[in-house]
Amino acid sequence: MRISRKEYDYILEIKSEASHGKGARLTKVAKGLKVSPASAYEEIYHLVTKGLVKREGDYIYVTEEGNRELLYAQKAHRVIETFLVKTGMSLEEACALTNRFDLLVPEEVIEHIYQFLGKPDRCPHSHQIPDVESERRE
Ligand SMILES: [Zn+2]
Repeated sequence: MRISRKEYDYILEIKSEASHGKGARLTKVAKGLKVSPASAYEEIYHLVTKGLVKREGDYIYVTEEGNRELLYAQKAHRVIETFLVKTGMSLEEACALTNRFDLLVPEEVIEHIYQFLGKPDRCPHSHQIPDVESERRE
């Protein structure tokens, strides 16, 4: 499964809201993302149908699949950014440009660059690069 930038932002917000307690509340997610509760409701409903988040009563949680996609999206961003910095680009420029296309790059390309770079553990921001693939391969 591939996720869009919008889906990524929602999953990340739900995850961080849920980390302080039982689960995320719709109003808090809407506030955190600076959107109306109605748009948050609609997007969360969409994420539930994709199996990326689940609702339990008033609380929203990121599913295992949602977590995997979140980690994969972080990997895609950080791998490309690391590569661009190696080519001599500044980190700020590399990060900003990467945000424009990281989630559109085929997974095979991300994997090739990741291997080529020697599976680095951290990006130039010192964030961890998760060693995950988008689809679970068993
Ligand atoms: Zn970045």
